[in-house]
Amino acid sequence: MKIIDHITNAQGKTLFSFELLPPAKGQGIQNIFQTMDELMEFKPPFIDVTYHREDYLYKQHANGLLERVSYRKRPGTVAICAAIMNKYKVDAVPHLICGGFTKEETENALIDLDFLGIDNVLVLRGDARKGDADFIPTEGGHAYATDLLQQVKDMNEGKYLHEDITTSSKTDFCIGVAGYPEKHFEAPNAQTDFKWLKKKVDMGAEFIVTQMFFNVERYKEFVTKCREHDIHVPIIPGLKPLTTKKQLITLPRIFHLDIPEELSEAVEGCKNNAEVRQVGEEWLVNQCRELIAFGAPVLHFYTMSNPGPTKNIVQQLA
Ligand code: FAD
Repeated sequence: MKIIDHITNAQGKTLFSFELLPPAKGQGIQNIFQTMDELMEFKPPFIDVTYHREDYLYKQHANGLLERVSYRKRPGTVAICAAIMNKYKVDAVPHLICGGFTKEETENALIDLDFLGIDNVLVLRGDARKGDADFIPTEGGHAYATDLLQQVKDMNEGKYLHEDITTSSKTDFCIGVAGYPEKHFEAPNAQTDFKWLKKKVDMGAEFIVTQMFFNVERYKEFVTKCREHDIHVPIIPGLKPLTTKKQLITLPRIFHLDIPEELSEAVEGCKNNAEVRQVGEEWLVNQCRELIAFGAPVLHFYTMSNPGPTKNIVQQLA
């Protein structure tokens, strides 16, 4: 079922959904199933599965020279989506990224997803490869989420890359895109970022999932600004419990967000990570209560495939 239909059917009740990370290459799918087993009690209407571009690995040779090898650390997104739908009868939402794919590879991936009965995709540009300062598009691929979105939309209209093929079948993907309550780090200003977000929605995106944030006011302001910019699709807040002291440094660095002083001071005062986890969970429970009161359609948790903290939080809300 499409995400927008799940939201409509909920009739204003806030839903809970989760994002999972494919296991690193060499690890089995068991961890995904264990995470799903833990989270099924909350009846998630959908589960997102992230997509990861190839990264570089450096192999040292006997003569001291380093060889750069390209490899995909976390493959398996499409298969995990199929396995989740098959085993748990829950809609799976694969993330689709520009980086690492030519347009033809994207087309073939979309055909696979359509044949598997997957109804939703979250369309993204993707992160830069580790070691690259900026995002470098793949030759023959897309540079922005808008370009990838156009391809998905074309397939929804029965337009494939090669005009001479006979098309009797259209895909019907419900398309989601990313939004940034604290601005995308590359956007020169918030206005420009809203301009591109509006473009994505005008092109056919039917829902937005936000980057994580630790201050509910940022989400509320973002929703208000979106409405002022004539963006009227559901805006799903992305949430992550803080679990370690180190995250006070890593989360702002990686996700370009602010951690409120009240939270950072409480975390600094913790004696160990068990205490941090408690502080992080309490903070997120309060955030979630405010978001529910504000009318957020879905609370979407970035579990990083560690369901424990998320489970404790949702149990206090469900
Ligand atoms: P875009 O919408 O393309 O925007 C990128 C930048 O360019 C922005 O500054 C924007 O203002 C600007 N811009 C947008 N369109 C245009 C245009 N047409 N012309 C010029 N400028 C433009 N990364 C992964 O690799 N895998 C994942 O699974 C993944 N999942 C994510 C899930 C969520 C909910 C979020 C919020 C992020 C996720 N990311 C993931 C990270 C994401 O790929 C990065 O944040 C990336 O830097 C931007 O992606 P985007 O889709 O927002 O890009």
